[in-house]
Formats: sequence, structure tokens, C-alpha cells
Amino acid sequence: MPLPYPTELIRSLEFIADVCNRRRAGALQTAADLRAVCGEWRFPGADAATEADAAATWAHLPAVETMWDADRDTVAVAVNGIFDRTAARPRLVQHDGLDWHLHGLPPTAPLADAIAVDAAMALADLVRVDDLARCSRCADDRCERMFVDLSRNRSRRFCSTTCQSRTNVAAFRRRHG
Ligand SMILES: [Zn+2]
Ligand SMILES: [Zn+2]
Repeated sequence: MPLPYPTELIRSLEFIADVCNRRRAGALQTAADLRAVCGEWRFPGADAATEADAAATWAHLPAVETMWDADRDTVAVAVNGIFDRTAARPRLVQHDGLDWHLHGLPPTAPLADAIAVDAAMALADLVRVDDLARCSRCADDRCERMFVDLSRNRSRRFCSTTCQSRTNVAAFRRRHG
């Protein structure tokens, strides 16, 4: 994969996209759901997550989704807003077998803030290199899942081969029906 991006940046983007997608699909509701998705992605600090942490996390997601779709200047302002509100202070950490990467908040910070800052830092990296086009959405209008476009020329249109073939079949039927 020819991208110059660190694995941890891609992991952060894919994590937040997955959380937003699952929340929108109704698959994330409880604190147990939050603990599970954080565990899958090795996002730390969720072992003792409460229902209040879950509610606070879900409350952040619409703003994250807005940033995913927004233009560069808008994202820059929104990212700074998250840094301000959470009093972010980046530090390099290693954990769960993951190599050195940045966390925006200490382990004592609320989980919902940690997740929001992680997304903000990842988007900040894309703002800096002017590559927000990586933050993409499935072109199937019944899906619209968020995904990270890692293709060389940012040409990926669908979240999955399932959506791609469903759209191809529908287009075929329109032409030949
Ligand atoms: Zn980490
Ligand atoms: Zn899709």
C-alpha cells in the first residue's frame, strides 16, 4: 500500500468510521457495546466504561460525521474546537502491542473525550497534508457507510464489494429492464 501514512493514523480513521457506522446502524447502544468495539480496535481505557461514557461517546458522533464530510477549512475549525474543549495535550504512548503513537489526553480523561480527540488528531493530519478525500462515504445511497479510501488515486466509491455489485446490478437492470 503506497500511502505515506503511519499505520496508527489509518487505524484511528478506520476506528472512528466503524464506530459511526455501527452507531448509525443501531449496533452500538450500551456500555458493553462501547467496551467491545474499543476492545476490537485496541482503543484503551474502555474496560470500565459506563452507560454515561457510552451516552457521551454517542453524543460526539454526529459532529465527527459532519467533519468526515466537511471541507478542509471547516474541519480545521472543528478540530481546534475539540482540542480546546477537551484541553488536549498530546503525548506519545505504546500499548496493547501498538508502536509509538499519539494520544491526545491522559488515561484519566473521559473515554468519550479520548475518542473525539483521537478522531480530531487523525483528521488534523489529513488537513495538514490536504488529503481529506481519504474520508469517504459509500456511493450506494442506501448504505452511505463511512470508509477510509486507501486507493492510490482516491477512486474507491463503495464501502464493500457487496455494495459495488448491488449498484452494478441495479444499473444493469435500469439499462436492460
Ligand atoms: Zn493508542
Ligand atoms: Zn456500502
